[in-house]
Amino acid sequence: MCAIVGVYGSQNASKTAYYALFAMQHRGQESSGISSSNGEKLLIYKKLGMVADIFGEASLSKLEGSSAIGHNRYSTAGSESVSDSQPLFAKYKLGEISVAHNGNLVNKHEVRNNLIDRGAIFQTDMDTENIIHLIAKSTENTLSSRIKDMLTKIEGAYSLVIQSRAKMFVIRDRFGIRPLSLGQLKDGGWIVASETCAFELVGAKFVRDVEPGEMITFEEGKEPYSEQLMEPDYHPCAFEYIYFSRPDSIIDGKNVYETRLRTGRKLAKEVPADVDLVLAVPDSGVAAAKGYADGLGVPFEMGIVRNHYVGRTFIEPTQEIRDLKVKLKLSPIKHLIQGKKIAIVDDSLVRGTTSKQIVRMLVDAGATEVHMRIAAPEIKYPCRYGIDTPTQAELISANMTPEEISSKIGSTSLGFLSVEGLKESLGSERTYSMVSFDGDYFAGGNVDSSGCGSN
Ligand code: AMP
Repeated sequence: MCAIVGVYGSQNASKTAYYALFAMQHRGQESSGISSSNGEKLLIYKKLGMVADIFGEASLSKLEGSSAIGHNRYSTAGSESVSDSQPLFAKYKLGEISVAHNGNLVNKHEVRNNLIDRGAIFQTDMDTENIIHLIAKSTENTLSSRIKDMLTKIEGAYSLVIQSRAKMFVIRDRFGIRPLSLGQLKDGGWIVASETCAFELVGAKFVRDVEPGEMITFEEGKEPYSEQLMEPDYHPCAFEYIYFSRPDSIIDGKNVYETRLRTGRKLAKEVPADVDLVLAVPDSGVAAAKGYADGLGVPFEMGIVRNHYVGRTFIEPTQEIRDLKVKLKLSPIKHLIQGKKIAIVDDSLVRGTTSKQIVRMLVDAGATEVHMRIAAPEIKYPCRYGIDTPTQAELISANMTPEEISSKIGSTSLGFLSVEGLKESLGSERTYSMVSFDGDYFAGGNVDSSGCGSN
């Protein structure tokens, strides 16, 4: 997960970056930071916590200058310290740089060990620090060529924004795994962001997606300069549509809400249920549930209320807290549910924690049957490209059949969308990254390599 933003050539660059990070809070709630350039030096402010709690008028006014980059961090395992928050700042031979990264470098241990063998000292646990070291160690004469040099040494998923005092560089890995879009601000300045929902808030016009393997350089007095550095092999992450992204975002030309509706309709064809009512697990299952209800021709109701003041279930890593959080977060509207046969739709099933509690909640509320429907295929493999999926041992679908899971979570039946069904819902014009479902680690890494979370 994680969100990144870069603003260039705009009067209120740090404020714009702040609003963009606020719009993308769902992508990471652990820490947030902004680095700005006033032309002479880079100024940086980052802390643990949520965007609105971290920044205020005072901190933003100190982040002066017409360029700013920012980051919201979603860590999985690993350190929760502020040193592991981004942007990462460093002084090196050519001056100062800040880096914001979304993704996961699959050769991070190899690169890091190699750097350490050559005397490098690391300050953080993040793979992003490799990027800074590789740039600093390169013998090229310009930052641009040092970045290109660095890119030959990293592998995996990365959407990157790199800022120097005068310039900004934006890069998307050759697979385009994590999203990154380019927009233009009303004052003529430029913005790049992980999701287009950030553009809506700051009044920017969507221009285009950053292409896989592309680097765009922003420099004062010049139009953005694009270079295709790596051969593209487009594999945007299917999970962006299934779960991560906000429904109003358009990722690689497709609206997230409409894509989720399609998965729901497809699910209704593949695994129908004879029910009175379709409910959603809010918020991530809502669009798919609506699609499922449309597909079945059965009413859809918002029969479960979500308390929005509790963070996403995965933010706290321990199992005890996760269990409690589901109850804190979701509550049934009993009079809608009592005496009814219910289909309940969620976007994905990972460990099975949420589903088990929801089924119990619906049975306790008087449902006579609870048919669990998942608008994604069975997650059998850990993702190595920047999503928080646990080890294979913790992935319930890697270890149990749908029938076994159904009896474990106590549902009347359980049905998943097929891999083919997901592909059809996403569209056939490109290949998506489906590693969680098919185990095809096309960008390197494998099921046993260490998990994500250092981004
Ligand atoms: P679980 O309870 O472990 O089966 O997780 C499933 C729930 O977690 C679903 O409601 C999803 O919306 C949500 N979810 C799926 N993938 C992720 C992820 N990578 N990070 C956080 N939450 C997730």
